[in-house]
Amino acid sequence: METKKKTTDRQALPCPHAKKCGGCQLQNMDYPQQLAWKENRVRQLIGRFGPVRPIIGMSTPYHYRNKVQAAFGLDGRRRIISGVYQSSSHRIVPVDKCLIEDETADQIIVTIRSMMPDFRMLAYDERTGTGFLRHVLVKRGFATGQVMVVLVAASPIFKLQKPFISKLLALHPEITTIVLNVNDRFTPLVLGQREKVLYGKGYIEDVLCGKTFRISPRSFYQINPVQTEVLYNTAMDMAGLTGRETVLDAYCGTGTIALIANGRAGKVLGVELNRDAVRDAIANARQNGVTNCWFTAADAGEYMEDMAAHHDRPDVVFMDPPRAGSDERFLRSLLRLSPPRVVYISCNPETLSRDLDILHAGGYTMETAQPVDMFPWTGHVETVCSLSKPHSKHHIEKENTL
Ligand code: SAH
Repeated sequence: METKKKTTDRQALPCPHAKKCGGCQLQNMDYPQQLAWKENRVRQLIGRFGPVRPIIGMSTPYHYRNKVQAAFGLDGRRRIISGVYQSSSHRIVPVDKCLIEDETADQIIVTIRSMMPDFRMLAYDERTGTGFLRHVLVKRGFATGQVMVVLVAASPIFKLQKPFISKLLALHPEITTIVLNVNDRFTPLVLGQREKVLYGKGYIEDVLCGKTFRISPRSFYQINPVQTEVLYNTAMDMAGLTGRETVLDAYCGTGTIALIANGRAGKVLGVELNRDAVRDAIANARQNGVTNCWFTAADAGEYMEDMAAHHDRPDVVFMDPPRAGSDERFLRSLLRLSPPRVVYISCNPETLSRDLDILHAGGYTMETAQPVDMFPWTGHVETVCSLSKPHSKHHIEKENTL
């Protein structure tokens, strides 16, 4: 079926870089066809567990990425170029404009490149390990309009720093902060460990579902905030919170779901493996004046085993695992904990299907699934589904008496 679609729907690709860049896998389909393809994929993978609603797409499926990254280097004639790495290689494909990236961010990157010769700023040369500028990362808060520019350089010695920053701010007054990140290693990672704030606060803020989140150069934040609101609002509706529940946000990252659930629940617990993300989650809670959220840095499965051992049972568990899905330990402890409701947010319907098999066998019913298109033009699709276990209270009491 898939093959047939690819041949019959072929048309002129909307982006001239599509083939070399490889970031947008569905360029050969128009937007309604992409939505149909994604919805169909979700239905094929999880339709056997329960009803799948029609996918929610974007009304304007362009320039949705609030985080843009460009690699800097030299072409064969030693001219400065900026763009993306050619798929599965380290060759830079020059790109000035991208269909899915924020347009302000793209313009700032082009401005920086055009300013470089005047300020004798060299692009980094990967072959020789010489030069200065390796990458530029721009993040923009769509709700707040705040813009962060991160210059990733091979060295902390930034000649003509002051006039460079003044000129950049004059050309782009929308920039609210500029950070120098030093990455002097041979590594595929964009950002290094050392940072120096050159202008502004060193972070930006954005508002999602009425909560404010701090975004620093290295912190994780959803890249399509418009659809993230749709996704999270759907997840909240599915959770059916009344204000009294104990909620667990497993794989909580920087606490977005936990903080959004906060006003609608009695108590919210968040668990996350990455310590930096937990630190951000705590800061985000403080920033929003939230007092009934608790965050813990731990393996989510281990944390739930502890909860089950203490007969501490949440009413609702939100789970938002990485692309690889959940692991056996997590699913086993979730079944042991046996919350009446689970809201599973997935960025990969294949691992979702695998995990649902286990939850289904453990007594959960999928009530409904809602696919949401978070990444138009790419092959990715997000799905949120609600699972319930009608007699889970009885089940846990029975288990405890064994
Ligand atoms: N819900 C968050 C982040 C989801 S991304 C948001 O929307 O912002 C998935 C998160 O799971 C990552 O932050 C990752 O660090 C975390 N993670 C991965 N394995 C984990 C595990 N075993 N236990 C807890 N968290 C884990």
